[in-house]
Amino acid sequence: MKKVAFITLGCKVNQYETNAMAQKFIEKGYEVVEHTEYADIYVINTCTVTNMSDRKSRQMLRRVKELNKKAIVVACGCYVQVAKEELEKIEEVDLILGNNEKNNIVELVEKFIKEIEKQEKIEEVENVMEQKEFVEFGNILYTEKTRAVIKVQDGCDRFCSYCIIPYARGRVRSRKPENVISEIEKISKEGIKEVVITGIHIASYGKDFKNIKEKEKIGKTGKEYRLIDLLEEINKIEGIERIELGSLEPLLITEEFVSRLKKLEKICHHFHLSLQSGFNETLKRMNRRYSVEEFRKIVNLLRENYEDVNLTTDIIVGFPGETEEEFNKTYEFLKEIKLYKMHVFKYSQRKGTKAAVMKGQIDGKKKEERSRKLIELSDKNEEEYNKKYIGKEVEVLWEEEKNGFYKGHTKNYILALARKNNKEGKSSNLNKIGLENKITKARCIEAGKDHILVEV
Ligand code: SF4
Repeated sequence: MKKVAFITLGCKVNQYETNAMAQKFIEKGYEVVEHTEYADIYVINTCTVTNMSDRKSRQMLRRVKELNKKAIVVACGCYVQVAKEELEKIEEVDLILGNNEKNNIVELVEKFIKEIEKQEKIEEVENVMEQKEFVEFGNILYTEKTRAVIKVQDGCDRFCSYCIIPYARGRVRSRKPENVISEIEKISKEGIKEVVITGIHIASYGKDFKNIKEKEKIGKTGKEYRLIDLLEEINKIEGIERIELGSLEPLLITEEFVSRLKKLEKICHHFHLSLQSGFNETLKRMNRRYSVEEFRKIVNLLRENYEDVNLTTDIIVGFPGETEEEFNKTYEFLKEIKLYKMHVFKYSQRKGTKAAVMKGQIDGKKKEERSRKLIELSDKNEEEYNKKYIGKEVEVLWEEEKNGFYKGHTKNYILALARKNNKEGKSSNLNKIGLENKITKARCIEAGKDHILVEV
């Protein structure tokens, strides 16, 4: 409960009006406390009948802030009425109200507080936006048992029209390569075999390196140090056997990028490319900077270069203005390119983004319907893809044992399960080998919607 305190100078009329103001605060749920106590709001009902009254009013206005630096100090009453300019010079005074505004004091104070909070939020965002360097947490060795997530980058400069992240996280800041490498080297010594390279927009890694030193690291070519350079270094780290990439901006995948990536044997053959929509007009409104045709080429490029590639994506349904026709085009495109899995999100308005105020907001039922349709397609694709593995050999990094199954992932990130004891009661070889950071060959014997069943 917010606390309010009053100081009344001068006549009985002022006293009466103070009581009236106090009552209004109480009616709105505030607690009235003594002016010598801590309060959130101090109201000084001033008097100007003599010079002495003026001085006393000024003294009181200055003094209350000592009890709570963050308090809102409100000056009202007769002195305010005749000498507003004098009061405006007093730094401690936050809000000045004339006698005729006393009646609405609660609303005016609350409006003022809201404005301050809004201003504080803007400043907070500006502070984030002004951050120029990656905030280094040091080497983080606390991880899952087999896999470590490594943050290499923060912030985003893309400003997709639906996304609040650039305001919350600021511009692109990349972590120094030597710090990334040092963390991974330490983690690998702890026995971790897999690292997940993550960030807000890892495709932008290195974009902010103005420092020539970073450029020199890759030789005298004068080329910029980017994600692929970092991955080449990580690939050399002893003990690390898998490098999984976090969500990727599709345009990162160029022929040159793939030709270098392919040489890195530790890279997992799973790429999460955020598509968001399969229709160019929708992509334009989203401020995504690729076209459906470019995305198709990227998918083909990866499929030509990685036989067992597993491609996943994010899709937003019900983006403002997404007509039935637009959605159907997206659906047809996704049916055609047949990705392994789609994470489907129903568009939700984020205050402060361009899309939040776009015309043609879609109702919840429509979004639900579209989402269901895409999830069904995704499940179908996933099961079909998994079934192709029946009878084939895969390589699994084992992670944990749960409910009678061992659980791990293949190199292209398919969930692999192995029974601890098979149907005939025969114990799995994994019982002997043990799970702890083991990578083994396994044969797929069955496949379900979201996993393959294997035997070691
Ligand atoms: S959706 Fe991704 S790329 Fe777009 S602004 Fe947000 S964080 Fe950046």
